[in-house]
Amino acid sequence: MSSVIQPITYLMTSLRPNRMVRRSLTYGFLVLGLLLIGPPIHRSAWLGSAQLHTLIETITTLLGLTTGAMALVRYYTRKSSTYLLLGSGFLGAAILNSYHLAITSSFLAGRTPSALSALTIWSGAVPQVYLSLILCASLVAWMRETRRPSVTRIKEAYVYCVMAFWMVATLLFFTFVPAAGGYYPDRFITHPTDLAQAVLFVVATIGYLLKGAWKDDDFEHCLVLSLIVATAAHLVFLSAFHKIFDASFFAAHALLNAQWVLVLVGLLVSMHSIFKREAENATNLSQANRSLATEVRERQTVAEALRQAHDDLEVRVQERTLELLRANEELADEIAGRKQMEHALLMAKEAAESANLAKSDFLANMSHEIRTPMNGIIGMTELALGTEMTREQREYLDIVKSSADSLLSLLNDILDFSKIEAGKLDMEMVAFNLRDALDDALKTVSFRAHQKGLEVVCHVLPEVPDALQGDPTRLCQIVLNLLGNAIKFTREGEVVLVVEKRNEVNEAVVLHFAVTDTGIGIHREKQSTIFEAFTQADTSTTRKFGGTGLGLAICARIVDLMGGRIWLDSEPGRGSTFHFEVRFTLQKNSPARYKPIGIEMLRDLPVLVVDDNATNGRIFEETLVTWGMKPVLAAGGPQALAALQHVSGKENAFPLIIVDARMPELDGFSVAKAIKLDPNHSESVIIMLTSAGMRGDGERCRELGINAYLPKPIRRSDLLEAIKMALGSQQHGEKGPPVITRHLLRESRRQLKILLAEDNAVNQLLAVRLLEKRGHTVTVAATGKLALEAHETQSFDLVLMDVQMPEMDGLEATVAIRQREKKSGKHIPIIAMTAHAMVGDRELCLKAGMDAYVTKPLDVGYLFAAIDELVDSALQPSTV
Ligand code: ADP
Repeated sequence: MSSVIQPITYLMTSLRPNRMVRRSLTYGFLVLGLLLIGPPIHRSAWLGSAQLHTLIETITTLLGLTTGAMALVRYYTRKSSTYLLLGSGFLGAAILNSYHLAITSSFLAGRTPSALSALTIWSGAVPQVYLSLILCASLVAWMRETRRPSVTRIKEAYVYCVMAFWMVATLLFFTFVPAAGGYYPDRFITHPTDLAQAVLFVVATIGYLLKGAWKDDDFEHCLVLSLIVATAAHLVFLSAFHKIFDASFFAAHALLNAQWVLVLVGLLVSMHSIFKREAENATNLSQANRSLATEVRERQTVAEALRQAHDDLEVRVQERTLELLRANEELADEIAGRKQMEHALLMAKEAAESANLAKSDFLANMSHEIRTPMNGIIGMTELALGTEMTREQREYLDIVKSSADSLLSLLNDILDFSKIEAGKLDMEMVAFNLRDALDDALKTVSFRAHQKGLEVVCHVLPEVPDALQGDPTRLCQIVLNLLGNAIKFTREGEVVLVVEKRNEVNEAVVLHFAVTDTGIGIHREKQSTIFEAFTQADTSTTRKFGGTGLGLAICARIVDLMGGRIWLDSEPGRGSTFHFEVRFTLQKNSPARYKPIGIEMLRDLPVLVVDDNATNGRIFEETLVTWGMKPVLAAGGPQALAALQHVSGKENAFPLIIVDARMPELDGFSVAKAIKLDPNHSESVIIMLTSAGMRGDGERCRELGINAYLPKPIRRSDLLEAIKMALGSQQHGEKGPPVITRHLLRESRRQLKILLAEDNAVNQLLAVRLLEKRGHTVTVAATGKLALEAHETQSFDLVLMDVQMPEMDGLEATVAIRQREKKSGKHIPIIAMTAHAMVGDRELCLKAGMDAYVTKPLDVGYLFAAIDELVDSALQPSTV
């Protein structure tokens, strides 16, 4: 069933015309209906009465009043000039209609002076004219409003006044002016005056239709309907009725009532929709109010939560502020504490610094105080050994000397260690020859090694550069310590020193030294502590081997100061290898050579010796006298200056001045400074002797122009060499030669005067180059005979003798030299150089009196080794 209804409903809905069409059709049908009912009503013979007319007019008036009042209510509900005009118009029309009602009522008939009934037609027309005009005026007002919406609305009072005036004027007019009948029974339009109202209603109808509001607005729709009805009432019935109270007459009145009803309905519908909308608005408003209230409540809750959070925050902020205050107080306390601590630290630092200062003063004092008597012991022993004595006495003195030497080395160790600890150990930066320095070190220990039956080998690999810059004394100290230990802790086997080059960058080279022994070795657990001071691997061995446990600690500290590292490999029972690596700078230029003067030049040379220690003074005096010099002793700085003052008239009265560095009142440096400032003595050669080398002393010497700076106790041979070198440089007028140090002495001792007997020019050139490169001075003799002559006239340290030469061969020349030497008692080392590498050649050479034998072509290493060996053994006796 529903399946049938549904499409029908849909069809109907879709076919249903829209509202505008519907309303247009309604207007059309209404007009048509009204036109159609016109003729039958005209033809009807029915006749009403005056009472019916009064009743209808009463209804009309009431309807008009109600409609007017309603329209004004509508106006006050939603203000619009149309409703004001319509409302007041309707009211006015109603009032005018009531006048018509009064005139036409049967109650007043015959009671008025004039025939009021004569006014019936006119009074009936007046409200209609009035109404139709008002309706047209409402249209004009609407048009004005639409065109210029900003224009202020018509004031109500004016409207009411105009209405009242109009009504009064109308009443008065109809009261006093008698109206014409206006009835033409023969014409189709019997009452043509009514056409005027009909035209006005038609205009209003057309105006409202054109306005177009009827399409949507219910009131306007009803208004248009009412206008059509009113137009029809006038056009169809009122303008064409024949008799008063006939069917057309009443039909017109009924239609006029219908006109009011329609307007009223429109107003009611409009009011209803307004009220409905208002009610909806009110509902929406209350809804909105409710949701607003809910929102307000929610907001209040949120605000409450916020306030709570704010309060919490306040509390927390207060707590934090308190904490912060507390932390600040703690911080302030801590800062105060820190400041106190800092102050204490500063005090401690100052105390430590002053303690350190005191320590270094003490160190310098100790060094001086210990070395001075040691100097006495060693010096006097050396002097004594130079005198005639029995074999027993010599033996005792030898023991005294060797004991003094060991005591001195022990003291040196202790002082060195304290110097390192106090940060007072200074590293020198001098040019030196590595192989020579190591040879020296080896020589020192080789005697002890040979006594124990140990082999000591030194192997410097060929790629290791020789000419280095650094501190050779400290290097030798390390090597000597390691070699000394190796020998001490090895019963049998060998001790080997190997030097390798690790790397060479720019002007520097890193060398690796390894001292290997076949001794007792060191346990693994002891290896890590072995470089600490006073540590010994096996305390029970202390007694057996002796020692202080300082040696390795000193080595480690020195290596550290040199920017290197030290370590060891060892296996108990198998031996140990001590390694260390240090960096040296390569020499750019070979150092300036000293040309020492001969000992004979020292004869009668005045020397000023400045030393506060009487024993030392005596030793110097006697030593210098043995070399033929004329020493003058001064027991301190002031005395020395006085002695110099004494001879101030004489220029260079003391070509040589030997000064002790450490003296009370005026120290050696001050004395040297005063001497250099005195023009009479500024040329004097100054040799400074020190018992406690201090940081920066070398630099001070250089600045002051001191020629030599040597440690005490000094060996006689060293002193002599230093004197000869210093005076030699003075004599040769060398500018700014390096300060003569113990190391420089050692170096210079190796610069030999060599006589080269060689006939071959190429060989001559080669040998000369090689030898000179090593710092030796070479004199060439092309034959044996010339060599012999040179030997006679000049002094040489060594002869390199070619065996085969013209005129006189090497063997003959050697024999001649040895013959000559028998008288002088000297022995010059002669090395044979021969291409005759035959069996028996060596014996021939040695038999002729030569000391060594090298074959040609020359092996440089071998040649130098032979030279060094011979020179060392030749120098040995003279150093005592
Ligand atoms: P010491 O004066 O006692 O020799 P060192 O510091 O030179 O002081 O040596 C510390 C200790 O290291 C020695 O007592 C010894 O036990 C051990 N030691 C050092 N060198 C060697 C070595 N070559 N072989 C075995 N033990 C060694």
